Amino acid sequence: MLNPKEIQDRLERLLPMVQKPGRYTGGELNQIVKNWDTGLTTVAMVFPDIYDLGMSNLGLAILYDLVNQREDALAERAYAPWIDMESALREHQIPLFSLETKHALVEFDIVAFSLPYETLYTTALNILDLSGIPIFADQRGPQHPLVIAGGHSTFNPEPMHAFIDAFVIGEGEDVIQEIIDVHQAWRRSRSDRGQLLRNLAKLWGVYIPALYEAHYHDDGTISHMERLDPAAPLPVVKRIVAQLPPPTTDFIVPYIDTVHNRVPVEIMRGCTRGCRFCQAGMITRPVRERPVDEIVDAIEIALEKTGFEEVGLLSLSSSDYTHILDLVRAVSERFEGRHLSISLPSLRIESFSVELMEALQTTRRSGFTLAPEAATERMREIINKPVSTQQLLETAHEIYSHGYTTIKLYFMIGHPSETIEDVQAIANLCKAVLAEGRKVMGKRAQVNAGVSTFVPKPHTPFQWVPCDTREQILAKQALLKRALRGQGLKLSWNPPEDTLLEAWLSRGDRRMAEVIYQTWKRGARFDAWNEHFRYDLWMEAFAATELDPDFYTHRERPIDETFPWEHISTTLRKKFLAEDYLWSQQGKTRIDCRERCFACGILPGFADLRRMNPGDVWQCPEVKNKRIPVSNLIEIEQI
Ligand code: SF4
Repeated sequence: MLNPKEIQDRLERLLPMVQKPGRYTGGELNQIVKNWDTGLTTVAMVFPDIYDLGMSNLGLAILYDLVNQREDALAERAYAPWIDMESALREHQIPLFSLETKHALVEFDIVAFSLPYETLYTTALNILDLSGIPIFADQRGPQHPLVIAGGHSTFNPEPMHAFIDAFVIGEGEDVIQEIIDVHQAWRRSRSDRGQLLRNLAKLWGVYIPALYEAHYHDDGTISHMERLDPAAPLPVVKRIVAQLPPPTTDFIVPYIDTVHNRVPVEIMRGCTRGCRFCQAGMITRPVRERPVDEIVDAIEIALEKTGFEEVGLLSLSSSDYTHILDLVRAVSERFEGRHLSISLPSLRIESFSVELMEALQTTRRSGFTLAPEAATERMREIINKPVSTQQLLETAHEIYSHGYTTIKLYFMIGHPSETIEDVQAIANLCKAVLAEGRKVMGKRAQVNAGVSTFVPKPHTPFQWVPCDTREQILAKQALLKRALRGQGLKLSWNPPEDTLLEAWLSRGDRRMAEVIYQTWKRGARFDAWNEHFRYDLWMEAFAATELDPDFYTHRERPIDETFPWEHISTTLRKKFLAEDYLWSQQGKTRIDCRERCFACGILPGFADLRRMNPGDVWQCPEVKNKRIPVSNLIEIEQI
């Protein structure tokens, strides 16, 4: 294995020959370099896509900062090399290395992948291979790093179960520290790798796939998940932090352009709107907010440390942050005259959103984004995003009246019970919004429609429904392409193959691991990139493994089917999700659960945490006694 100096020497010869060498040099402002000779626990934080994307991943930036605050540990970064660099690394036999000290990843104690979405999976395998780490977890020995992974896609970890030693289910801020503690104790104990895994299994939120076995019915559906070791919890309950810690302010400043060159600050976590298609809204409950002062102070410090000129105030639904007006005013006052660009994504469709953008005094007036997700009121009730068309058009009118020339409208096709009329309605609504713009600014008005395709995600009320077939998606997209032509209208969409891949990987069971492996072996990587995604390789891998891709995507699942992800608990009760699914079929909506708790399961699941953190730290009702205050909860009918 090459040592860091040898890697550095070879890199110096290689870098002038590859695109954007700044992706591989490290040495940026605010990177942290520690001494490897002092016996620290070494953690490689890995984003399995290129640097340009990975540097904007807030989760990894938080964990990098937290681990480096420890005196007994260090964190360094690694990203996927782009195609040209991968060839160069393989040709010159250079293992994938960390940016900070150029240590090969195989030399780290822990390699931690961020897997926020499923199309990163083959690239994660490629990174293991480039690093000299065995792809399959059961082929790793005491000399290999512990390979862990976290992020939203791991709420169904099964398709990646064969490659990852330990999954973190849920929020990583506390559990990453515990994993390091357990690793250090294990090192001191000199016991075997199996003992390390059993010790990790005792941590709340950690899932060790090797300690479970999946059993199937004859028809291929899951019968049950068997525990192979008493240390393995069943179910594995997701990890949360009771209170959000102060925001990270030590961001690394890249030398090259990345997707977001900005200070990202998460203003709240979780969402209580209950959109039925939205996995993030379901798996990140309960809602926890940061205080206004803490956010504004963090922005100030981060701007000083980085010199960025843009701030992103992040959350799943910014308008729902309780103190949003106070925050916007405080940010405007504190940074007046500093020519900051401030983004406030995920605003609701109401005139208040326009007021918020005005109060932020952003100078750019080009685009304003709204996400109705469906174009008819019937469909918006089915997906539980009820807003009237009248309100949408009034909001659009107001946006144009404030000088914005373009409104971006996000929709999805393929929602449950969608008809061709619902798809046609997308085009009609876009034209109606454009007509509002024309009233205000004539031909300068523009509507950009982004139409993705719905994937029924695990842990949501729609987890039972089938995905549209390739032919259905193509027919709907053809209709939209025909209908959304003309001046002022622009349409973007995803190829149906992208949707199917996302669906297989998010809904798959353990058998999908072999499909992922076979596809990677055939050359797949960067599946999230249109120019590199090879649908044919996935089809070949399905054929080689004799698995039917339609089994995972186009089958309506019976309400009592055991899902591959059922041993992973978000604490949302299956009965709650099933009831919500049935409500959707009846066109019944749920209001924001901060106004009325629907007993989703969060409170019984985390009663002690809630009791220890009273007041408005959480937006769920308080838990004062040992029992959950059922007076606050509505009666749940038996299904
Ligand atoms: S416990 Fe109640 S208030 Fe809290 S997230 Fe669930 S439904 Fe909403």
